[in-house]
Amino acid sequence: MARYTGSVCRLCRRENIKLFLKGDRCYSDKCAFDRRSYSPGQHGQRRGKFSDYGIQLREKQKVKRMYGLMERQFHGLFKKAERQKGVTGTNLLVLLERRLDNVVYRLGFGNSRAQARQLVLHRHFTVNGKTVNIPSYLVKIGDAIAVREKSRNLSVISDSMDAVVRRGIPDWLELDKENFKGVVKAYPTREDLTMPIQEQLIVEFYSR
Ligand code: SF4
Repeated sequence: MARYTGSVCRLCRRENIKLFLKGDRCYSDKCAFDRRSYSPGQHGQRRGKFSDYGIQLREKQKVKRMYGLMERQFHGLFKKAERQKGVTGTNLLVLLERRLDNVVYRLGFGNSRAQARQLVLHRHFTVNGKTVNIPSYLVKIGDAIAVREKSRNLSVISDSMDAVVRRGIPDWLELDKENFKGVVKAYPTREDLTMPIQEQLIVEFYSR
């Protein structure tokens, strides 16, 4: 599966918001967005006016980049959200949150979604006792996500677990830190998702 390999800090500057793609660095004074909060490139400091289309496009790009997805995967999830009952925009955000790489990140086993994704690919996690190495796996209510026994002494995981205090664990997940395990108590509601996202703009973008 293709993935973005360029500078991720550039993406925050492009979207004009901190996307928290680099773990600890995002909270330090090394954050590129805090240092240069204007768009990258030669004309980055000239911010023009966006058309309606431009506003919708930027919102879609922002959320896609926040979760580290490529267009095909993101559009696929949007189509799935459209087929579900309820509000498409909210459905999309819930589907994004239910991805295994995001849940691993939310539980604090990974420092960023990119790191969580790599840890999942390297078979460090089980879901309900079975090893799962698919970052796009959608967790369900009651699923238990655990670090595999032999991966528990990895410093990358323990360091992340120490640092998660800063972010906190969302209410829809429960972490059993001693046993390196988390449970999905419920699906997140729109109120649980506190990131500044206007999902309606994404729906409008794909409905043009
Ligand atoms: Fe974005 Fe983090 Fe880079 Fe800051 S350090 S620009 S929040 S990815």
